[in-house]
Amino acid sequence: MRDVILRSIVLLVAVTMLANITTNTSHAVIEDNPLLAKWEGPYGGVPPFDRVQIPLFKPALEAAMAEQLAEIQRIANDAAPPDFENTIVALERSGASLDRVTTLYGVWGATMSGPDYQAVQREMAPRLAAFNDQITQNEALFKRIEAVYNSTAKAKLNPEQQRLAWVYYTNFVRAGARLSPEAKTHLSQINQQLAGLFTKFSQNVLAEETDQFIVLKSEEELSGLPQSVRDAAAAAAETKKQPGTWVIMNTRSSIDPFLSYSDRRDLREKAWRMFVNRGDNGGEHDNNAIITQILQLRAERAKLLGFPTHAHWRLENAMAKTPEKAMELMEAVWKPSVARVHEEVADMQALADKEGAKIKIEPWDYRYYMEKVRKAKYDLDQNEIKPYLQLEKLREGIFWVAGELFNFNFTPVTNVPVAHPDIRVWEVTDKTTQKHIGLWYFDPYARAGKRSGAWMNAYRTQERVNGEVTTIVSNNANFVKGKPGEPVLISWDDATTMFHEFGHALHGLSSNVTYPTLSGTSVPRDYVEFPSQLLEHWLSTPEVLQKFALHYQTGKPIPQAIVDKIKRSATFNQGFATVEYLSAALIDMKLHLAGDKKIDPDAFERETLAQLGMPKEIVMRHRTPQFLHVFSSDGYSAGYYSYLWSDVLTADAFGAFVEGKGPYDRAVAERLRKNIFSVGNTVDPAEAYRAFRGRDPKVDALMKKRGFATKS
Ligand SMILES: [Zn+2]
Repeated sequence: MRDVILRSIVLLVAVTMLANITTNTSHAVIEDNPLLAKWEGPYGGVPPFDRVQIPLFKPALEAAMAEQLAEIQRIANDAAPPDFENTIVALERSGASLDRVTTLYGVWGATMSGPDYQAVQREMAPRLAAFNDQITQNEALFKRIEAVYNSTAKAKLNPEQQRLAWVYYTNFVRAGARLSPEAKTHLSQINQQLAGLFTKFSQNVLAEETDQFIVLKSEEELSGLPQSVRDAAAAAAETKKQPGTWVIMNTRSSIDPFLSYSDRRDLREKAWRMFVNRGDNGGEHDNNAIITQILQLRAERAKLLGFPTHAHWRLENAMAKTPEKAMELMEAVWKPSVARVHEEVADMQALADKEGAKIKIEPWDYRYYMEKVRKAKYDLDQNEIKPYLQLEKLREGIFWVAGELFNFNFTPVTNVPVAHPDIRVWEVTDKTTQKHIGLWYFDPYARAGKRSGAWMNAYRTQERVNGEVTTIVSNNANFVKGKPGEPVLISWDDATTMFHEFGHALHGLSSNVTYPTLSGTSVPRDYVEFPSQLLEHWLSTPEVLQKFALHYQTGKPIPQAIVDKIKRSATFNQGFATVEYLSAALIDMKLHLAGDKKIDPDAFERETLAQLGMPKEIVMRHRTPQFLHVFSSDGYSAGYYSYLWSDVLTADAFGAFVEGKGPYDRAVAERLRKNIFSVGNTVDPAEAYRAFRGRDPKVDALMKKRGFATKS
């Protein structure tokens, strides 16, 4: 499962504003603030990353909120009777300055953070939340939206316009536009409290990921680690000022390889405990009390809005529509995946016994013995694949795939500013017409202040409300930068993630809509991972492997024998991967179905997992105290199931290519572009899928992809 797609903070503040904005900042400062300026330069303007300074954020955010508030007042108090143009389209045009500022603010938060930034974030998060409420709670504004939505003139609008009116109306109602004034005030207080708690939660996890690490001091302690892991640990030791040692950081990209290869069982246990206890160590960075408060506030808010639970509120406008539907899918997949885990553990235990290890498989042994079983069963060593997976070659590979599927061409450009010298930019054009399509920023390397994981971010979405505006997107990752001139080699999993994030980027770049609110990746949460997960399938196509999986020394393509082994082992370890993910998704949903019960997160997690029959050899992919998807914003709350939901679509959709002429079938690719990648949220996802596939998705393809038995 890949990381959250970051749709910049813009999304959080999409329909928003701030009460009692007091901009004491002098006028001169505001006028000079480059973060507020219209983007200049080529391609319809580009983000001024070279002009960002942390002290500029607060005055820029304040001024931009004030500006949008004034725009909202004008729309709400318009003397003319409400119509689509003077209300909905006017709203689409509002908030341009704030969009620009929050894009930069979001990029800094995710990739250039530090104590100064975090202080601004702590102050501004509740104010941005209050600002949002000030817009959605504007009585006069909602009356106008409601009038447009209910008017007979709506029938004359085109389908995209009708959907936009529906989206505005629904979003406002869902945000409490119909509540009494007292209830609105109460709701806004809840939202501001939540924003503060979300910020604290994330900063606590970041602190434990930064402050805790394991120092290895001897060859003996490095036993089993391949050279790439040693190199990364040596580089980490430098950043942690531990010269002459090797450092295992408290992040997934550092811990997972260590658990996979370290022969030292005692150190594996130590590393595993450090990682799974992030946010759960007592003391100032403990997240348990924060979680209890977040859950109570969410339950209270759901009640206020007329929903039985937070999960019901969140899923109402998702593709799944109800928590019951999402639970049904999760439960159907849970049993066969647990059964598979027991088989996997039996294989590992047998191997450990044969080696005379005299151990019982524990969670810190899983990845280690998994690699041994992979080797024994499929004669496949992950380190055997790595020399063929060069970061830059794979980047060329994803460009090539985009050319084959969507007729895109990528050309490097150096005429735009970037936030850090490691970031590179490409212009995307149509291969045939040379028409400009957008920009793709690539920020591949880990650095201090950058959040872990990989994600896509939209800096500017495609639209044509005032003439054509083109897409600007970025892909971000945390690869360890190689020595100058040396290629960066990545794992098969990391290569899959690259294709995944690029799938999100293509979703943004393919957008062909009129209104920004409906553009690109602005689709329901349980649908957004579908295009990205689909792209993962192209990594293992023979075309990509032969052209781009080239040995970093010989330049020769990956041998067919290894490719065959990769194929044969495709469903290997799916029990672990599915249970690790699904246990987290089930806990997320159950926490948000529990209503206003006061929850002790540790006890809830323990008891629920016991009831589910969680295999004791596995831990949740994200334990509750570090579950950023769920507690760093409302984003994926009661929504972590989305990856599985989307994967049902993904597996089923790839079947359309298999049933056709294969992964590069132009006709199927065109249907995909036309019905899925280009439409954004202008069409109901279920209908869009039907238009592409000719029927509703079936779960069989997913079960087959993961190697689970199905009844039929
Ligand atoms: Zn994703």
